[in-house]
Amino acid sequence: MSAQRSGQHIAIIGGGIAGLSAAWYLRKAGHTPTLFEASNRPGGKMVTREVEGCLLEGGPDSLLTEKPWAIDLCRELGIESALLPSNDHQRSFSILHGGRLHPFPAGCKLFIPQKVTPILTTPLLSPLGKLRMLMEPFMRHRPVEGDESLADFTRRHFGQQTLERLAGPLLGGIYGGDPEDMSMAATFPRLLTLEAKHGSLVRGMASMMKEANARQREGTAPALFTSLKQGMQLLPDTLASRLGEVLRLNHRVQRIQKTAQGWDVEGHSFDQVIIALPARQAAPLFADVDKNLHEYLTRQVSSSSATLSLIFDCTDISERPRGFGFMAAHPLETLLVGCTWTGNKFEEREADNRFVCRLFLGGPHAKDAIESGQDSALIAPAIQALRSICPFIPETPLAHWLQRWPHGNPGYQLGHLDWVDQLTQRADSLGGLHFCGSSYRGVSVSDCVKQAQDLAASRP
Ligand SMILES: Cc1cc2nc3c(=O)[nH]c(=O)nc-3n(C[C@H](O)[C@H](O)[C@H](O)COP(=O)(O)OP(=O)(O)OC[C@H]3O[C@@H](n4cnc5c(N)ncnc54)[C@H](O)[C@@H]3O)c2cc1C
Repeated sequence: MSAQRSGQHIAIIGGGIAGLSAAWYLRKAGHTPTLFEASNRPGGKMVTREVEGCLLEGGPDSLLTEKPWAIDLCRELGIESALLPSNDHQRSFSILHGGRLHPFPAGCKLFIPQKVTPILTTPLLSPLGKLRMLMEPFMRHRPVEGDESLADFTRRHFGQQTLERLAGPLLGGIYGGDPEDMSMAATFPRLLTLEAKHGSLVRGMASMMKEANARQREGTAPALFTSLKQGMQLLPDTLASRLGEVLRLNHRVQRIQKTAQGWDVEGHSFDQVIIALPARQAAPLFADVDKNLHEYLTRQVSSSSATLSLIFDCTDISERPRGFGFMAAHPLETLLVGCTWTGNKFEEREADNRFVCRLFLGGPHAKDAIESGQDSALIAPAIQALRSICPFIPETPLAHWLQRWPHGNPGYQLGHLDWVDQLTQRADSLGGLHFCGSSYRGVSVSDCVKQAQDLAASRP
């Protein structure tokens, strides 16, 4: 798909953010893409709704500002004025542990302490847990050979309590995965680089933070998160309107075939095919095409999650909570994985006199109900779990929106990068076949956009 080979007919299967951005960048590079999307709307997991005058997100609610690709794409599309920075003056969050909320220790970058006093005074760790955490800069840390799990990596540096109460909720929560199985190399390679360079993560982070701290003091640091004023769905909607007839909604691809010239997708000939589907949804397409690819794709595990947005009348709330919300310590005690106080994190989300919170549900207590579609087995227990921690939340919301994502979180398990390599090699051996999206080289919206950019710029 290099400039020399422009003008190719390329089928893209899956109209989530990965497929839409692939179509956008490929067309820019002079190709002729056709994008097949099974549902009647573009965007996949990027879905926004307005309920009671409040803006709710069913999937992603923001972009991590330090990953620039999706924000750059918004600028390119002319929707820069819609970018909405998080309210970082209110940025703080808590950890749910032992049935109570505890402020996340101040001065940590990720879960890596940069100040001693907040660690000494936090009720989140026992005296031994604190000692173990604070010993990190004085211990020898040698990177292990091969891939290592997030759990083993954190334990090696800071001990079990830091894993359960700080790193697990913070980092495991991003992937909706179990830190015992999560590949460090695939999920947090920058921490491995810090370790390789400095040994201690505390020392490594301190040196990395010098520049960032200076920007913070000058007031020029960007907000941690960025959203879109009209909601996250504005990005796929804008892409879809620019792509026009390239996008074919209500077209579920059931079958693809390798041909002498390229690929056949639903009876149409293409030079190349991009699979912009999560691995689990891509697998059936290869059952009759290539047994190896089918086997690789079925091998990726995934976990299930749901978001439950709740809208209350402000006059029913006795106190307004502070900060962005909370995450639950591991192992999870209920189906409640986390909660965002939506109106604290972003402006322009709540209508007048409304209070909105978004619960993130998942883990073993929610899995069956999410996968079998038993909404009532999620909503009442989730509100009950929230009220047991935050009694100021009324029993009945004015309105709610439950969005389930069965098998929606790809598991970046140990060996993930080898798996991606094997998949890519096998696809290359067939020719004209590419994979793009959250199952492969990064789960965030920005990672999906970056994969699409790289694909359009690559020379297959
Ligand atoms: C609850 C939740 C919260 C998240 N929060 C954030 C966040 O705050 N920030 C962030 O950056 N990321 C977040 N993520 C991750 C991010 O939203 C996803 O990884 C990303 O949107 C996935 O995009 P995708 O294009 O790879 O896949 P998807 O969005 O899953 O799109 C795949 C598309 O393919 C279509 N499809 C399926 N089968 C076929 C077929 N046979 N033929 C044609 N079409 C088909 C589907 O209908 C779908 O539209 C979150 C994810 C979840 C679940």
